[in-house]
Amino acid sequence: MFEHELSALKSSQLLRRLTPVESYHGPYATIDGKSRLLLCANDYLGLAGHPALRDAARSAMDRYGFGSGASRLISGTSASHQELERRIARFKGVEAALVFNSGYAANTGIIPAIVGKGDVVLSDCRNHASIVDGCRLSRAERAIFRHKDMNHVESILKESRDARRRLIVTDGVFSMDGDIAPLGDLAALAEKYNAILMVDDAHGTGVLGRTGKGTAEHFGLSQGIHIHMGTLGKALGSFGAYVAGSRDLIDYLMNSARSFIYSTALPPSVCAASLAAIEIVENEPPHRERLWKNRERFVAGLTSLGLNSGESETPIVPIMLGDPAKACKAADQLFERGIYAVAIRPPTVPEGASMIRMTLMATHTDQDLDQALDVIAGLKKEGYL
Ligand code: PMP
Repeated sequence: MFEHELSALKSSQLLRRLTPVESYHGPYATIDGKSRLLLCANDYLGLAGHPALRDAARSAMDRYGFGSGASRLISGTSASHQELERRIARFKGVEAALVFNSGYAANTGIIPAIVGKGDVVLSDCRNHASIVDGCRLSRAERAIFRHKDMNHVESILKESRDARRRLIVTDGVFSMDGDIAPLGDLAALAEKYNAILMVDDAHGTGVLGRTGKGTAEHFGLSQGIHIHMGTLGKALGSFGAYVAGSRDLIDYLMNSARSFIYSTALPPSVCAASLAAIEIVENEPPHRERLWKNRERFVAGLTSLGLNSGESETPIVPIMLGDPAKACKAADQLFERGIYAVAIRPPTVPEGASMIRMTLMATHTDQDLDQALDVIAGLKKEGYL
């Protein structure tokens, strides 16, 4: 029935497949019976395997069982959910927070709750697909601005003065290129034109800022962002997502975000693990320091090989290749040589921007990175990169 679509994907090198991980220890994953160095996970701090998260999840399971049994507004809210929401609010330095089942659910729930017909949503052209889908679902007029182009943002704000409400939405850290949004400039424009600013800090949370609070902390911004969204399944090593902001915002979203209202709540054990992760993120800076050291060492290695890591400023480090077939071949070769890093192709990135997206982790050792760089150097010599 779908043969035509599948063969079109295959012939343009865009067919995707699943790669099951048989076990996971630190930055190593066993795949096809062989241990491989992971250079593509978003488990930046290595917390997914941390004993504190497992212990917290286990004791929550002893107390609550596994599933939450209902949606949040029915009987699915446990004390763990509420404790996590209070902890996130404190972590982000705002009045209140609300947990969603995933980042995708958060963005597709929050954006349509905030804007609708008669409103304008301004969205960076490289924002994550979940933001794109949230904007589409909202039925607000969509104004896609050129990547990080503040003149473009300002001109849209000037032209849309008659809109009922304007929402500017941006990734904090762009998930494929690893560059950082100019949040201070966006906050200034939002204030000047009386717009709402929302930041998706999926890849900034736990990674950026002195205490891991994310992109806002990186810029020293304590105000000016109205809606802080972030995920719990990346640097926090757990699962789910949050939105944080004023008490009114949270009360409103609890009553209007459809992906929050109409979905079974996260298991309490997942919330307990997230709570344990926030304690580590805030109180144990060495994990983050190690992550950044690894990032610097790896990027220096790539640069000395003459490889192009695009606009990366964070532990997300692409090797820009352009052509999807080239990216696939390079990823296959890496895999054969013990390194798991994936080819990112359209529609995840624009045509001509295929890449190998590499991500650093705090649990990588110098030896791991040097081994990866040796493999990469070999592939470069052989013309794969
Ligand atoms: N926003 C961004 C910027 C992301 O990178 C991701 C995950 N890839 C999401 C949202 C979705 O988060 P989740 O995986 O929790 O659904």
